[in-house]
Amino acid sequence: MQKVLQELLDLQNLDAQLREVRDLLSTFPKKLAEVEARAAGAKAEVDGSKAAQVETIRERKKYELDVEQWKERVRKYKDQSAQVKTNEAYKALQHEVQTAETEIAKAEDRLLEQMVAAEEYDRRVKASEKLLKEVEEVARGARAKIESDRGTLEKELAALIAKRSQLVSGVPENLLDHYERIAKKHNGVALAEVRDEKCTACGMRVRPHVFQEMRRRGSDEMFHCETCTRILYYVEPESSASIPASTGHNHSAAVPGRE
Ligand SMILES: [Zn+2]
Repeated sequence: MQKVLQELLDLQNLDAQLREVRDLLSTFPKKLAEVEARAAGAKAEVDGSKAAQVETIRERKKYELDVEQWKERVRKYKDQSAQVKTNEAYKALQHEVQTAETEIAKAEDRLLEQMVAAEEYDRRVKASEKLLKEVEEVARGARAKIESDRGTLEKELAALIAKRSQLVSGVPENLLDHYERIAKKHNGVALAEVRDEKCTACGMRVRPHVFQEMRRRGSDEMFHCETCTRILYYVEPESSASIPASTGHNHSAAVPGRE
């Protein structure tokens, strides 16, 4: 294969590796965001259960106060009962006492409900705190792994970039432009191998005289697929010998930089 084609092929392989590394690197922000979202979710669960716990404590205090206030009224009505003069007034006070006692019973029921609920919230708080600890532990590991993988890939990327700039320094600028223009059109694949006298990228048959010229030792022409415009290269099988050098071919489609 021509030296220049080999260089372009090396460049194409390098560009494929670069794309792969860059694609991988581009997935890291999303991976990190997923880790943070899981940790934030677990934290929100703890906050939510703690808020519910605080709310039950607040309500319990309110019902405790209700009980106290109704008990205070009962005491007051009973004191008053001892001093009333009429039967009606006494009955009215007795009725007030009954009402207050009903309210005490209701408040005590609510209080009991709140205490049962509080136990449930205590359990929820403990469970969510335990889960948060586990999630944070996992998140720490995941973050470290992501950062370490990212570091490795960034080093790899820097090495590939250095290797690429070294490689392209040996390639004429117009040829490099030509390569990049074709690569851009074809998902980074500017060169296509010819196998069975066909372009392996699009399947188009290569004209016999072109194929013959490609195989000629010492040929320095560059050929393009007539259909997909990719730069063609041919790797001579180990066993078959190259066609001896000959002259007289002139292919207009072979000038780099012209498509
Ligand atoms: Zn083709």
